[in-house]
Amino acid sequence: MTTFTHEQIELLLEENDTHECEGVGKDHVCVRIEAIAELPSRFGDFHIVAFSNNRDDKEHVAIIKGEIFEASDVAVRLHSECLTGDVIGSLRCDCRDQLEAALKKIGEMDKGIVLYLRQEGRGIGLTNKIRAYSLQDQGLDTVEANLALGFRDDERDYAIAAHMLHSLRVKSINLMTNNPKKIDQLRQYGVTVNKRIPHILPSNEHNRFYLETKATKSGHMIDFYGKEHLPEQSDKPIIEGMSESQIKIADD
Ligand SMILES: [Zn+2]
Ligand SMILES: [Zn+2]
Repeated sequence: MTTFTHEQIELLLEENDTHECEGVGKDHVCVRIEAIAELPSRFGDFHIVAFSNNRDDKEHVAIIKGEIFEASDVAVRLHSECLTGDVIGSLRCDCRDQLEAALKKIGEMDKGIVLYLRQEGRGIGLTNKIRAYSLQDQGLDTVEANLALGFRDDERDYAIAAHMLHSLRVKSINLMTNNPKKIDQLRQYGVTVNKRIPHILPSNEHNRFYLETKATKSGHMIDFYGKEHLPEQSDKPIIEGMSESQIKIADD
C-alpha cells in the first residue's frame, strides 16, 4: 500500500510551490509543503512531509501512514518536539512515551498522521525549558516553572496543524488526544474532526509513577524522585491500568 501516487506528490508540490493564503488564526499562519519522501521506520512504513511557514524558521513535519490524500476519518496525533524526551529519553516528561505510542498505533492502522511540531518546550525553546527544569531542581515554585514552560496560549500549534492538514488535503480526522479543547480549537480553524480517540499509553517501568501517584490538590503528577512532571504535550497522560478516578484527575 502506497501513501501517495507520483501524480499526487507532483500535484502537492506544484500547488504548494506558489501557495499563499490569508493564513490561519490571528497570526495568519501559512505553510507550504516543501518535500515528500518515504520513511521506513521501526514503527512501520511511513512517508515524511516537510513544511515551511511564514512565521518562524522551524521545519514542521508530517509523518504519514497509508492513503490520506482526500481521505476521511484519518487518525491524527499532534506532537510537540521535545529533544530531551523524544531523543534522549528523559524521564522528566512523558513525551517519548507519547510519541512512540502514537507512531506504533498509527503504524498498525490503515491510515494516520503524526504532525511533529517543532515547538520545543511548547514554543519557548530548549534553553528556556531547561531553565524551567532548573527552577524545579532548586525547589522553586512549580507555577513559575510552568509559566517558564510556556503554559499560556496554544493557539499557534493548532493553527499550524490545521493548515498542515489542509495542505495535505485531508478531508476529516479522528484526533488522538486526551484533551477535548484541542478538538474545539482545530474545528475553529476549519478542520473537520469526527471524533476523539483517547491516547492511552502502555504502562512501563518509566511511567509507573503515574499509576501510583497520589493526586495533590492541584492534580499535579509527582514521581518518586519528588519531581513534578510538566505535561509538555498539552495532553494529560492516561496510562493503561489507570483507575477511573486517576483518569478524572488527569482530566481536570
Ligand atoms: Zn496558506
Ligand atoms: Zn518532554
